[in-house]
Amino acid sequence: MPSVGQQLSAHRSLTALRTIVRCRAKASALREGPAAGDGPGAAWLAFLCPAHSEGLPEWPGTASHDDSDWMPCGTVLDFRPTEQLLQSHADLWLTALTGVRPERYGGVWVLEEGDRVLRERLEEDGDSDEGGPLQGIVTMMWLACRSAAEGDLMQAVTALAYCETLAQGLESRRDGDLAPQ
Ligand SMILES: [Zn+2]
Repeated sequence: MPSVGQQLSAHRSLTALRTIVRCRAKASALREGPAAGDGPGAAWLAFLCPAHSEGLPEWPGTASHDDSDWMPCGTVLDFRPTEQLLQSHADLWLTALTGVRPERYGGVWVLEEGDRVLRERLEEDGDSDEGGPLQGIVTMMWLACRSAAEGDLMQAVTALAYCETLAQGLESRRDGDLAPQ
């Protein structure tokens, strides 16, 4: 018998695989995103542990199911078209990290502008980020830009999804810096 995850992703093509939180727990719940609008089924499915299924308001679901897929918490199967994925990345972390808004730059240009800002930041505090996540983010961002310039948006959002995961390392480093000694 197919799992709930399999049932909900039937008839849909995966456009991105994302890891939206750093968590070592196994997921116990499957959060179903809103209807995609371009066909049957949800825009995304998020696998979450008990602690994380209580939060994450930036991922508003329409339903929650018991998970039997044995996925790591934070796994997201995304079925949205690439333009919507670019917007989602901007909304969730890219704009917060770079100040670049897709409504000002539109489509793939948000990537080029984001890449420029991140490179500048790396040059500014390159020494303090020695061996840190920013270097990895800049590399993946460069790959995303190159793919977008070649017209391969699917490849670009794959690189961007990896940037999203690396950016969580940046946040936890910053949180760590702020923590009392
Ligand atoms: Zn979790």
